[in-house]
Amino acid sequence: MRINAGSSMTVRRGWRKAARWLVTVLVLFLNAAVAADDMARERQAMVDEVASMARAFGAGAGRGALDPRVLAALGRVPRHEFVSGALRFAAYANRPLPIGHGQTISQPFIVAVMTDLLKVGAGGTASDGTPREPGAVLEIGTGSGYQAAVLAELGVKVWSIEIVEPLAKEATERLLRLGYANVTTKFGDGYHGWPEHGPFDAIVVTAAASHVPPPLVRQLKPGGRMVIPVGAAFQTQQLLLVEKRGDGTVTTRQMMPVRFVPLTGGH
Ligand code: SAH
Repeated sequence: MRINAGSSMTVRRGWRKAARWLVTVLVLFLNAAVAADDMARERQAMVDEVASMARAFGAGAGRGALDPRVLAALGRVPRHEFVSGALRFAAYANRPLPIGHGQTISQPFIVAVMTDLLKVGAGGTASDGTPREPGAVLEIGTGSGYQAAVLAELGVKVWSIEIVEPLAKEATERLLRLGYANVTTKFGDGYHGWPEHGPFDAIVVTAAASHVPPPLVRQLKPGGRMVIPVGAAFQTQQLLLVEKRGDGTVTTRQMMPVRFVPLTGGH
């Protein structure tokens, strides 16, 4: 009898313990779901702000109306995963944020405008039925990996180079963890591009250069587009759109004033 009573007590205690665990797990799950929902709402508010800012400034390839695909891509990338835990509360503010090593993740508005200017396309089938390869994009300045993720969301293949080794390592791990399998990263000086994988449909430089690097122009396909901030370090620079025509001639247009961290390296 004693043995039976004892074991039924143990069973009851066991059930109570299991119920407590279940409640804890449920509460944690609900908290996470609410947090995820809040993040999604904040992200959408950020996308709306970016779209209206572009209209107000007449920014981007369509001079105001950003490509809906670009806005949708911005709406899918979890920017809070690209900043440190302490800055998550500000992840969906439309502003740049520090990512360590004196570098920053760009303002979402600037990321959107630069992406829009590149006019990259996913693969698929053209209207006449011919298959189209997904675009190949080279990025100089991986930083947090956020710009690369936004490009990847557009269905293109991304090659990205970062000169600060710990940032390159962190971004590589982060992009892998978040499932961005179409981004390949490397540590090095992006001034020289990545000729093994070129030529590219588009090139985006996310650090301010004193001039347009000739190796990058060479690695641009005919019909390709490059977006690059050019000007003095720690001052306002001009965002340039460099286009290589079918016949190989190159045109350059100033799109808007911007402020980027400098392109470094021994070039
Ligand atoms: N695109 C990034 C923002 C980058 S900030 C993002 O979405 O988070 C600019 C980055 O360019 C910095 O991380 C800086 O270390 C890097 N950089 C500067 N000069 C470079 C060079 N010569 N080659 C490659 N990366 C460079």
